[in-house]
Amino acid sequence: MKLRFAPSPTGFLHVGNARVALANWLVARRAGGTFVLRFDDTDTERSKPEYATAIEEDLRWLGLDWDESFAQSSRLAAYEAAAERLKKSGHLYPCLESEEELRFKREQRQKQGRPPVYDRAALKMTAEQLERALANGKQPYWRFKLSPRTVEWHDGVLGRRQVKLPPISDPVLIRADGSFLYTFTSVVDDLETGVTGVIRGEDHVTNTGVQIDIMEALGMRPGRIDFAHLPLLTDADGSQLSKRIGSMGLRQLRRDGVEAPALCGYLAALGSSQDPVPGMPRELLAGFSLEHLSRSSARFDPTQLLALNRRYLHGLDFATVRDRLPDGADERFWLAVRGNLDLISEARDWHEVAAGTPAIAAQPEEAELLRLALDTLPPAPWDDTTWGSWTRALGAASGRKGKALFLPLRRALTGEDHGPELKAFLPLIGPDRAAQRLRSAIG
Ligand code: GLU
Repeated sequence: MKLRFAPSPTGFLHVGNARVALANWLVARRAGGTFVLRFDDTDTERSKPEYATAIEEDLRWLGLDWDESFAQSSRLAAYEAAAERLKKSGHLYPCLESEEELRFKREQRQKQGRPPVYDRAALKMTAEQLERALANGKQPYWRFKLSPRTVEWHDGVLGRRQVKLPPISDPVLIRADGSFLYTFTSVVDDLETGVTGVIRGEDHVTNTGVQIDIMEALGMRPGRIDFAHLPLLTDADGSQLSKRIGSMGLRQLRRDGVEAPALCGYLAALGSSQDPVPGMPRELLAGFSLEHLSRSSARFDPTQLLALNRRYLHGLDFATVRDRLPDGADERFWLAVRGNLDLISEARDWHEVAAGTPAIAAQPEEAELLRLALDTLPPAPWDDTTWGSWTRALGAASGRKGKALFLPLRRALTGEDHGPELKAFLPLIGPDRAAQRLRSAIG
């Protein structure tokens, strides 16, 4: 098995791309096959090496590796050769119509109630007409003559799929400046590099019909390549995700503190009935199969992703996370706060609350309780029994219980209404800071 992920380096990866990359990687690795990274950089104006580098970096961050990588721009000779074969066999034909002419023809057809399919007028061009045009400095572009048939395949996710070719305009494969289009270069690469399967987004279904036709014109045995299309991702509100939704870009998510195992676990389960579990790709191998995926579109819900991120952080041990914690944060600190984090960056804030100087608001209306607390502050050393014995005594002395007792204390000790359990957090604050803060809160 040989699969490939083929991003265009025209921008940063978004979650939709990441899902396709992950699915290809998981299927290939599960089968002990090869995984290839291919840069579809035929759009020379929009492709940038910086994007290719960023894509590699993002894939590594996700925990994906590849056995081979190449860019289509390194294979121009192979595309030339394949194009020559198609010209010889009559599958590629030269065209001269301008954009305006084509638009006019489309509009005419639409007015007549006919589908706006290209009428293949260029096929009627004589050799003399073409020569004259060339002599006048005109350069043809080349279209592929689609067969008059319906292409059918068994899709790895969508089941039996068909694409009727007659209502599709013959695709342009070579521009007038001689550059190749993705529709063609992808086919040549998939055939010549021995790719055995293509897993990509559902937006490519029509492409697949067209590309199978081109592959077979190049001599491919029908069914040599397996196709599987992942149903589209929609936003939480049901609209289609796109590259333009910056907030769903991988880099942004990463900057926002989403952990790779949370994102991978979420993407691997998305669109299936399986419960997501956080994990790096290698840990997700056993549980993943295209067969689990539903045929309908999947909602990408950042809230669920965040819940998984939380779950991942809660189970994370100190040794794994220590390099990412603020100076001075020890295991006791980590165990006290991890259950309270949505994002690892919040550990820094809690460290400031534990060992720094958080702002403590005065609570004059609670002065009596807080003074009592200050007077009964237990002596050092503090451990995780301190909070219990102290508040039990305070409760008995003040007649307070529940929120009426705990909220003024939490506010006075941490400056926050919510946070980690004080049983484990109080020892991190310690008697000196606790006394100081209680005094500030008394006002
Ligand atoms: N460059 C194409 C894309 O990013 C690749 C599609 C394919 O996998 O063939 O959509």
